[in-house]
Amino acid sequence: MALSSLEARVTGPEGLKSTSMSTVKAYGAPAAKAPLEAMSIERRDLDAYDVLIDIKFAGICHSDIHTVRGDWGPMPYPVVPGHEIAGVVAAVGSAVTKHQVGDRVGVGCMVSSCGSCSSCAAGQENYCLNHNTPTYAGTDKYGATTQGGYSTAIVVEEDFVLRIPEGIGLDVAAPLLCAGVTTYSPLRHWGAGPGKKVAVVGLGGLGHMAVKLAAAMGAEVTVLSQSLKKREDGLRLGATDYRATDDPETFEALKGTFDLIINTVSAPLQTDKFVQLLALDGTLVTVGAPPKPMVVSMYPLAGMRRSLAGSMIGGIPETQEMLDFCAAHGLGADIEVIGADAINEAYERVLASDVRYRFVIDTSTL
Ligand code: NAP
Ligand code: ZN
Ligand code: ZN
Repeated sequence: MALSSLEARVTGPEGLKSTSMSTVKAYGAPAAKAPLEAMSIERRDLDAYDVLIDIKFAGICHSDIHTVRGDWGPMPYPVVPGHEIAGVVAAVGSAVTKHQVGDRVGVGCMVSSCGSCSSCAAGQENYCLNHNTPTYAGTDKYGATTQGGYSTAIVVEEDFVLRIPEGIGLDVAAPLLCAGVTTYSPLRHWGAGPGKKVAVVGLGGLGHMAVKLAAAMGAEVTVLSQSLKKREDGLRLGATDYRATDDPETFEALKGTFDLIINTVSAPLQTDKFVQLLALDGTLVTVGAPPKPMVVSMYPLAGMRRSLAGSMIGGIPETQEMLDFCAAHGLGADIEVIGADAINEAYERVLASDVRYRFVIDTSTL
């Protein structure tokens, strides 16, 4: 009898026999300090619960840049990044029930997890106690290094493939698979909604989705950006206030204001300054993942029983909920579609905070 998809995940695929491969086009980093370049990678043949996806679009997340540049430590080069994947199902394994050929689907930051721990049982595979398998630069159940979405096709087990609802274009849907769920999850967890004041620090890929989502949830949203350069955009995206963090007056005027602050900044934040913007019992949630530690003092936290928290992407059920929420509210990412030859330049622009608000690779150019 065939294993269920969950059993297959827990015990390993039947027979671990998937050794035949197909070669697909990709774009990746051959080494930490090297520019990305065109390359070929292997995708495994379909196991019973696998889905083959023709990738149409892949978003460029700042985590891709941290990873390939070695900010977070040594990586198994070559690395093909990309965990904001949108495409169409091209084939399914013999036991797949959740997806059909022709379906519009997405893949985010994980492609597997243990399936048996308490987090996985709760649909929080992002917090798998036995470590989930990241979409790239991870090791899959066959012992192979995972390679991500800057490629023309990917094979993923069906439980980690999301449905992209009709009404969201695949190009604007791609960034939802990381930037969308990474901001949706803490907004939901900490109760963003009517009567809540939410601040978003950093108006980049994650930040612009946080603004759209928090506003759609009914919260009152303020953007805290390095300057007022993107103010018009911030207000158009749904914020009602927009302040510059290079202006000391911002930190005086907004002291004690926010129930929730979502920090999306890719560099270390001067945490104490932002903690003081929280109201009584407010929470500062950091989703930005700078390579260096951030310093925190006790008194700004204790004085108003404030909390400091972190959050990591979202589980599979919550990712689907986020996609359905975006479809219901007419939300997608604000994107700039680029060809493969512009990926290295796009990386430089992201590093210079010159992105409005997500670069998305058209994979037909690979
Ligand atoms: P992004 O598009 O580059 O946006 C980051 C924004 O932070 C910039 O647009 C800029 O906004 C601000 N910023 C950048 N450098 C700054 C500095 N030195 N000081 C102050 N502000 C600065 O990046 P992203 O793709 O949104 O990712 C943001 C961070 O989240 C990255 O570290 C990424 O690795 C991390 N991440 C974490 C998760 C998770 O699960 N926790 C998931 C995805 C990404 P302004 O110009 O408005 O100031
Ligand atoms: Zn990401
Ligand atoms: Zn688990």
